[in-house]
Amino acid sequence: MNAPATKEIPPALQMLQLISGFWVSRCVYVLAKLGIPDLLKDGPKSAAELASATGAHAPSLFRVLRALAAVDVLTQTSADRFGNTPLSETLRSDVPGSLRAFAMTELGEEHYPAWGELMHSVRTGGIAFDQAFGEPVWEFFAKNPENAKIFNDAMSGMTTQAETALHAAYDFEGIDTIMDVGGGHGGLITSILKRNPDIRGILFDAPQVVEGAQAKLAASGVADRVRLVGGDFFKSVPEGADAITMKWIIHDWNDEQSVAIMKNCHRALPANGKLILIEAVVPPGGEMHFAKFMDLNMLVMTGGRERTEEEFRRLYEAAGFRLTRIVPTESPFSIIEGVRVQ
Ligand code: SAH
Repeated sequence: MNAPATKEIPPALQMLQLISGFWVSRCVYVLAKLGIPDLLKDGPKSAAELASATGAHAPSLFRVLRALAAVDVLTQTSADRFGNTPLSETLRSDVPGSLRAFAMTELGEEHYPAWGELMHSVRTGGIAFDQAFGEPVWEFFAKNPENAKIFNDAMSGMTTQAETALHAAYDFEGIDTIMDVGGGHGGLITSILKRNPDIRGILFDAPQVVEGAQAKLAASGVADRVRLVGGDFFKSVPEGADAITMKWIIHDWNDEQSVAIMKNCHRALPANGKLILIEAVVPPGGEMHFAKFMDLNMLVMTGGRERTEEEFRRLYEAAGFRLTRIVPTESPFSIIEGVRVQ
């Protein structure tokens, strides 16, 4: 049997590739931010044409495009012309589950400087973002609507990416009213209601986020079945749902904060109500999993973490729930279901 290709690369070269990984990431950021994959959707263009359409410096942009073509993010069709590849197509604004906003938020103005302070988190256990910006990320977003919009679009894109896998793995049937807590711009709740015509929904998030969700919801065709509520999940969440979903919420918070949010869900749910978390689950062994690096993203951004099955089980118990099952999906997310026991 042939060894995997990476095994044939000398360790020093592999290490050089790892060390320079962020060079590639930053080029992807420039590509996404300038919207170049959108400009290439009808065919290849020259660096000069792309520079004049984006207000960039043509010779420098050329060098970024050439480097990206070397790693298959673009194709170099002639000395000075570049076209999209399947990789850059994912960064177009108009494709379902677009990763453009995700590339912009992760590699741009807030996550990137926070990662620059990773050493602060490692040395002190503190939150690198707070060190870099002087305030927690949610306060920063509340004051910087442009950044917040990109972040919310990024979350919507990631939810669209995972939607098919989530619905293939888990049936929401039998639920009367479902509430998505921290539901952002409503991607998840909309996808549940579209597939389940008898379910009603509540979308709960910070007031300014819910406000931003209104237009998207109006266009979704299910707006008449969704109630929008703005608030703070550390204070309370609305009553009226027999199941609550939280996607990518608990990973933002430490154990104490997570239990506080889950206890507020407990208060709002009826007996036997379901609390469904949609999160990546860290596998126990040493294998590669998206969750192991997302975990560091949480370390630097929010002080949260990705968790193992056992760690989720303990959170559920501490908040008055019993973890009933974990359903893996074809996406990095699993569906973690718990039932209210007290
Ligand atoms: N569930 C969405 C968004 C995840 S991002 C998705 O997976 O796409 C985390 C969300 O938590 C953001 O929308 C943020 O506005 C919300 N959030 C953070 N702090 C909050 C609080 N105290 N009360 C309510 N929502 C909050």
